[in-house]
Amino acid sequence: MSTEGPGSVVFQNIRKQFGAFTAIHDLSLTIEPGTLVTLLGPSGCGKTTTLRMLAGLEHPTSGRILIGGKDVTMLPANERDVSMVFQSYALFPHMTALENVAYGLESSGLKRKEARERAEDGLALVGLAGMGERLPAELSGGQQQRVAVARALVLEPQVLLLDEPLSDLDARLRRRVRTEIRELQQRLGFTAVYVTHDQDEALAVSDRIIVMRDGHVAQEGAPRDLYDAPASAFIADFMGEANVVSCDILGVEGGDATIRVEALTHRVPGRDIRPGPAKLAVRPNAITLEPAKNGAFSGRITHAAYLGDHVEYEVKTAAGTLFVVDPAVERTLAPATDVAIGFKERGIAIISS
Ligand code: ATP
Repeated sequence: MSTEGPGSVVFQNIRKQFGAFTAIHDLSLTIEPGTLVTLLGPSGCGKTTTLRMLAGLEHPTSGRILIGGKDVTMLPANERDVSMVFQSYALFPHMTALENVAYGLESSGLKRKEARERAEDGLALVGLAGMGERLPAELSGGQQQRVAVARALVLEPQVLLLDEPLSDLDARLRRRVRTEIRELQQRLGFTAVYVTHDQDEALAVSDRIIVMRDGHVAQEGAPRDLYDAPASAFIADFMGEANVVSCDILGVEGGDATIRVEALTHRVPGRDIRPGPAKLAVRPNAITLEPAKNGAFSGRITHAAYLGDHVEYEVKTAAGTLFVVDPAVERTLAPATDVAIGFKERGIAIISS
């Protein structure tokens, strides 16, 4: 673990104001070399501003930014060892793919021949060997984005910055290109900071995810940690869907808590918590529906929709209306059916707010 070596990024107490408006409040984070870290959050939460400060396109109002252990806080963009891949690939339309990739190398002083050779290598790296003579208009959207990635990578930056790199691609292509970007990052081992507002994309590509909200870090962790142990209702709902349900924590033992929701008791992972009232995030697919029986946590189906590989239900209970995703497609429970509600082992987390 190195926070000073090449490819590391550190934000220390970064604050960014635009006039009287504070876009980023006291942001501190550390990115380890060779990892892909995603800044995720709803529109306006400060992802792009954070990335632009790392790129040197914005300067923080206060705090320090280190890249590879070096303080770059006030350095201009062209003196930082980073390259950025933008939302719309911004290729020069009149230049071939090869010329687009070679352009940055030539502007940084490399001789034309050497720049072209490095650009050829760059195109091969992203699977576009032999396509160098095509103009951007003669390439698909996914290929154009790969040219943009090659153009950034041939500069051999310490850190590659990707600002919503897939947003101009259609859904199917998005999945393929995100896999390609992740494979390339793992194969070459560069550090990448990736901005997206799409949680599936973040889960799929990241070593770590930093979820932002209103200029703050709402939660940071590995994809599984954020999904399995959301700290708040905001995270639970942002990383997939969740029902937020009031519960009582009856006791805590060996890293597990015993909780009660109405007549249902259940054990869930729980550290550093005290008995008393609390909130649970319950994934829609963590709820089981059984035939009604006396003494159970019960509910009544109010809505059912068969969706091919699962059935969705709304179930009215004394703890609120629950949204349930049931993989048992061989049956569809009709509205007005009374059911007993259970929780599965996974997909239930105690949240703080
Ligand atoms: P999106 O997903 O919509 O791109 P984002 O999370 O990237 O959103 P930012 O672009 O970082 O959000 O913006 C964060 C906040 O700062 C927003 O409220 C935005 O309006 C404000 N902001 C960004 N740039 C400026 C600017 N140059 N002047 C004033 N306010 C700005």
